[in-house]
Amino acid sequence: MRALVARAAGTPPRVEEIVLPAPGPAQVRVAIRAAGVCHSDLSMVNGTLAPTYPLVLGHEAAGVVLAVGADVDRVRLGDHVVLNWAPPCRQCWYCGRGEPWLCAATGAPSVPSGSTDADGAPLHVTLGLGALAEEVVVAANAVIPVPAELPFEAAALLGCAVLTGIGAVRRTAGVVPGDAVAVIGLGGVGLSVVAAARAAGADPVIAVDLSAAKRDLAVAAGATDFLLSDDTLNRSVRTRTGGRGVDHAFECAGRAATIRLAWRATRRGGQVTVVGMGGKDDVVELGALDIFHSARILRSSVYGSSDPDRDLPELARAVLDGSIDLGPLISDRSTLDEAPAALDRMARGEGARSVILF
Ligand SMILES: [Zn+2]
Ligand SMILES: [Zn+2]
Repeated sequence: MRALVARAAGTPPRVEEIVLPAPGPAQVRVAIRAAGVCHSDLSMVNGTLAPTYPLVLGHEAAGVVLAVGADVDRVRLGDHVVLNWAPPCRQCWYCGRGEPWLCAATGAPSVPSGSTDADGAPLHVTLGLGALAEEVVVAANAVIPVPAELPFEAAALLGCAVLTGIGAVRRTAGVVPGDAVAVIGLGGVGLSVVAAARAAGADPVIAVDLSAAKRDLAVAAGATDFLLSDDTLNRSVRTRTGGRGVDHAFECAGRAATIRLAWRATRRGGQVTVVGMGGKDDVVELGALDIFHSARILRSSVYGSSDPDRDLPELARAVLDGSIDLGPLISDRSTLDEAPAALDRMARGEGARSVILF
């Protein structure tokens, strides 16, 4: 079978033939039907997340169960499933506290998988999945069954961008009707945050990006205002918020510079939620007096502070009953062979989500 493989940091990934192991105990084999190209895949390719290579990319996907190993009662052959890149162990201290998104057993950017390349060399897989591939063999607790009526491309997006974006708004930040919200960085996650903030009754929902081409995508997702990320941003946000700044700013680019923009755009006592995953050497500088005087909260949202086993089926029902529309989040549909071009578009800051269809 074929998969998108990165061989080294900074070199373009290529579609290669790979060999999967048979599913062992507590594992399942899934035929991928749709997979999103996420910014974290780019961070694997350019080395920001320092994974081990060679690496099968991809972690946002949905498909059909092809085979199950021993001791699997969670799914059966033919079930439609979404992949979960942070399956909680349900045994560690964090899981016991009800914070499974911080599970001590998850979070490694790459893990050995039992897969090999065509020459028999072992491959790592992204976040335990390696889902930009025709098939995957993954832990049984990393698949979540969803209704067969749910389109695969929507199901795929639920697994990363949408669970993250909606969770950041509802669970991490707790946006309430009337809150003023700014969202900085309008990729798949940022547009999910825009849609979720509008659905939560936020007004205004100010969408911010470096590219003017994101305006139409932002408005389609539910933004009330679109602003370019430039020197006038802070003033423009304040003129829309009674001079105060927003109640909640969401940083979805994963950069120190945009975290500072989000900080400055927030009112005294407001909250900055960092959703983007940045690099460890990109340092945010904040003044000590500013921190005290502004009384702001700065926190991050990991996987939307969500429990995917609980929250993902609920989101699937919301897509099916029409209360969540994922249409505006998808800007491109392509084949696995076109996935490197989709990564290039993302690196240039173009479009919303690209979905690879199998
Ligand atoms: Zn992702
Ligand atoms: Zn755990």
